[in-house]
Amino acid sequence: MLGAKAIARAKINLFLEVGPRRDDGYHEIRSVMQALELSDELYFRRTDGAAGHVVVRCSDPGIPTGSDNLVCRAVEAFEESTGTGGEGGVEVLINKRIPVGAGLAGGSADAAAALVAMDRMYELEMSAEALADIGASVGSDVPFCLLGGTALVSGRGERVERLEPLPPMQVVLASTGEEVSTREVYERFDALPTGPAPDTEGALQSLLAGIRNHDFEAIYSNLHNSLESATIATDRLGEYKEIARAAGATAALMTGSGPTVFALVSGMEQAAEVAWELEKAAPITIVTSFADRGAQISDV
Ligand code: ATP
Repeated sequence: MLGAKAIARAKINLFLEVGPRRDDGYHEIRSVMQALELSDELYFRRTDGAAGHVVVRCSDPGIPTGSDNLVCRAVEAFEESTGTGGEGGVEVLINKRIPVGAGLAGGSADAAAALVAMDRMYELEMSAEALADIGASVGSDVPFCLLGGTALVSGRGERVERLEPLPPMQVVLASTGEEVSTREVYERFDALPTGPAPDTEGALQSLLAGIRNHDFEAIYSNLHNSLESATIATDRLGEYKEIARAAGATAALMTGSGPTVFALVSGMEQAAEVAWELEKAAPITIVTSFADRGAQISDV
């Protein structure tokens, strides 16, 4: 097959507990991740250009298109692991909608989409596990972005356990519009004074039980993000959370390393109300919903 279109879905963290820095520089995390319908579209084309040559174009001019682009890295990792690199070049056009550097894993989502597109174009029908192994070598969030839905993620992100998918709840995102470096937020987190580790085990178990039983009260009251104290723009994110709650959101929390807050709302009417109020304060406001899948080939 000479071409493919792939959908790259963003994620939020309903729960993110960050442990101490490991010897290899990564942090051990435990996270409940949730895929969103908010997505980028990627168009792939095999060319008869130089073998292994990857050309990336992106609708957002701020995103690197060279070997720093995670799509480029994913294509190269795929070619290396499957031996398809000798069969010509690949061109990719990214239609970017997921805000960049916003804790929504846009780059990892694009990398996951690249892996499913390569698998389709080369007609290899690889297993989900084999693609996730390649994905883990490209970025910590890639294995989850391949699976999507609702999942418990651990290790540095490579262990992904599917959970009972949640109903398609509405979500309103509010972001400061700044691009945050995940690495810098982790460095700030490491520099925070170490007190006794907060007891998050109870919250995680209650959240998991809430997901199993579709007990929304248990879900809303056990959301957690260890990085909230280490991110930039804490005041503005606090303000977005207050605005969202005052406008009727059931819960609001920062996602990933920020600077985006997600608000969970119980229906479209409430989503419109919350988005209307947030839009007055936040440079980026997006209404979306939970998705029960991850990166996917699109035939339309
Ligand atoms: P995470 O939540 O996984 O920590 P993030 O959502 O905060 O990540 P991304 O949007 O993935 O951040 O972007 C992080 C960096 O990756 C940016 O500096 C961006 O330039 C770079 N990058 C590389 N490839 C891509 C891509 N395809 N899409 C977006 N950003 C990319």
